[in-house]
Amino acid sequence: MGTKSNPTGWLSASLTAFQKDVWSVPTVIARWAPHIERSGHSGKAQHYRFALSSYPLLSALIGELQSDAQIEAEIDAQLQHGDYSASDAWAAKKIRLARDRFRRDVLANFRGCCCVCRVDLEELLDAAHIRSWEEDLQNRLNPANGLSLCTLHHRAFDRKIIGFDSNRRITVRQLKSRSQVVRDQLDRYRGTPMVRPLIKVTL
Ligand SMILES: [Zn+2]
Repeated sequence: MGTKSNPTGWLSASLTAFQKDVWSVPTVIARWAPHIERSGHSGKAQHYRFALSSYPLLSALIGELQSDAQIEAEIDAQLQHGDYSASDAWAAKKIRLARDRFRRDVLANFRGCCCVCRVDLEELLDAAHIRSWEEDLQNRLNPANGLSLCTLHHRAFDRKIIGFDSNRRITVRQLKSRSQVVRDQLDRYRGTPMVRPLIKVTL
């Protein structure tokens, strides 16, 4: 049977079964990995314990074995349901792809430019979280929780040098520096409106 030729199939089937109905796991294991049945792990309770103990490993393995396209399809399906959360338990690969997706969505929401200075070079743009990744698990992937900012304005936003008022106008903290760059890149935007996003962001 195809446990070697199709390890992803077995792992995915086990994990899906575990998530939907833990008691179906023995059937899945018997179907996909009959050698486990033969190796002494018999009985429903043992299968259950096996499934339970291997759940983190299964998740991690599936994360590594799934293709980028499969993971992206999973993320897409989740977002379609309005679920913008991301879990720390996700495989590193899935978190990286989810962050990439957030970045694409946020940049697209601001038509590919910094919402402060309108720089439109993608290499210089970041997707900044309004409520941080650590702070708001439920909106980690929500484009309404993101700002498209160039590297300088992203850092300035994170360090609270710039901000946005309720009318989406840019606020700038009083700065000690008298450099021309500070005047040109920060001070001059005080009170100006941010670029209007396609979907409203939650400031
Ligand atoms: Zn900028």
